[in-house]
Amino acid sequence: MRTPSIVYWLDNSLYLNITNNCSNNCYFCIRKFRKGIDNFNLKLQSEPSTEQIIKTLQGHVHRKIWNEVVFCGFGEPLSRLDTVLEVTKWICKHTVLPVRINTNGHGYILNPGRDVAEELRKAGVNKISVSLNAHNAQTYQTVCKPRFENAFQKVLEFIEKARKADINVEVTAVQIPEIDLQKIRELADMLGVKFRLRRYIPCIW
Ligand code: SF4
Repeated sequence: MRTPSIVYWLDNSLYLNITNNCSNNCYFCIRKFRKGIDNFNLKLQSEPSTEQIIKTLQGHVHRKIWNEVVFCGFGEPLSRLDTVLEVTKWICKHTVLPVRINTNGHGYILNPGRDVAEELRKAGVNKISVSLNAHNAQTYQTVCKPRFENAFQKVLEFIEKARKADINVEVTAVQIPEIDLQKIRELADMLGVKFRLRRYIPCIW
């Protein structure tokens, strides 16, 4: 098995796999079925330090003209908010690449008392893709199996706060039978953000 990757790439996007912890347990999560994506092993043996992430990034970020750097791996990046902020600041200081976060939207639950959206904007995050994967709270419980109560409502609040912080926000969902995609589209409209349907390859979107 290959050494676990902190940095990996698909097409022209550079991805950061900074944690394997997640506050959801989606039944479709790719982590249950595979060890990685493409030829990359994304099963970390331990969480890399901020310094390790930056050092690894330094080795790849100037190798080609990437479209973006994306926090997206086998876990929820905002469970390590301070690391996301530090690495984003480094990217903004040393490159002109846009920074995107793929998140389950639990940022405020995982970081109580923090102004998560505002901190992300100030650090330089340009775009956030929020994986919603449910059209109501009951479906969210069934499909995403969150560790916290009222998680669906908190995800909606996260989306709204991120939009108000002037970050480009999109809601995404995978095409699975439990989800009413039209209702998710309507929710996204109501929240004033775009909706994007993803292929059923979770964690890569
Ligand atoms: S699909 Fe994403 S949000 Fe769901 S358990 Fe996997 S890593 Fe977490």
